Amino acid sequence: MARRKIIAGNWKMNKTPSEARELCALLAPLVKDADTDVVYCVPAIDIVPVVEAVKGSNVEVGAENMYIEEKGAYTGEIAPDMIVDAGAKWVIIGHSERREYFKEDDAFLNKKVLKAFEHGLTPILCCGESLEQRESGVTLDWIRLQIKSDLQGVTKEQASGMVIAYEPIWAIGTGKTATADQAEEVCRAIRECIAEIYDTDTAEKIRIQYGGSMNGGNCKELLAKPNIDGGLIGGASLKAEFAEIVNYNK
Ligand code: PEP
Repeated sequence: MARRKIIAGNWKMNKTPSEARELCALLAPLVKDADTDVVYCVPAIDIVPVVEAVKGSNVEVGAENMYIEEKGAYTGEIAPDMIVDAGAKWVIIGHSERREYFKEDDAFLNKKVLKAFEHGLTPILCCGESLEQRESGVTLDWIRLQIKSDLQGVTKEQASGMVIAYEPIWAIGTGKTATADQAEEVCRAIRECIAEIYDTDTAEKIRIQYGGSMNGGNCKELLAKPNIDGGLIGGASLKAEFAEIVNYNK
């Protein structure tokens, strides 16, 4: 079964609302003929202007984070309903920067994944190993543990439609990309893990992205691998180069 590729930008803590509109205008003509799904995951304050800017186009919008409660005294947090009402359809969960700087652990991330589904948001669930873990040979064990913990209670139907982003921490924002073979090895292991948790049908449907310094130059080789169904793009999502990745097959 051919899975449609999905290229998602993770803007991180970049772009004011005015700058976000400008970036959408710059990218609009460049991504409009994409054969891939295209998603911009943007800071909370940019969701409304970006949804407005991409209206009627092939681009969908995602949040970069979300809290696990419905509403109330959680100063500074953003509720799932707020994201949905603003018009976003996706949410990044478990990015390594959230895991590291905000101490989000797998038990908490599992709650976020379940909450996202409860509200009709599709998670882009991130996982990935540190350089130390890779060098000590525990990468696949670590990734399996993250996936199994984060997907507790997620149904087969939900898992089929979601996205997992494999992002080796040592490759994020460093300019040091995993080789296509390294990325493929882990993405294949993630698919096997999904088959173990659910079944082969679910494993064939779920989309698995690679993320970590993907750019216009290296995207073709990475996206040619059979288990890499797209990319989660940080730095290169903030410029016209993002369109080179979206149009990698043209
Ligand atoms: C990311 O933050 O998800 C990411 C992949 O960043 P970069 O592309 O800059 O490495």
